[in-house]
Amino acid sequence: MSSPNQTDEAKAAGYGACLRCGAELSAVGLEKFRVGGTSGGWKMLFGELAELGEDMIELEVFACPSCRKVELRVPVA
Ligand SMILES: [Zn+2]
Repeated sequence: MSSPNQTDEAKAAGYGACLRCGAELSAVGLEKFRVGGTSGGWKMLFGELAELGEDMIELEVFACPSCRKVELRVPVA
């Protein structure tokens, strides 16, 4: 068991390794996604964040250069 603090810091710096193949994910950048209002799962997942900027939400996009899997996450405020 390693320190949980170290794990948190690694996640803050970057997305880390691909969940599928373990390759390092590369940051693509911020993309705006339309969430169609503040209903349903988005509101549940992101709360007030889903209400920012009309019905658009900004997510960080990471792509795996190996298996092409794409990961999304809420940008660090
Ligand atoms: Zn991968």
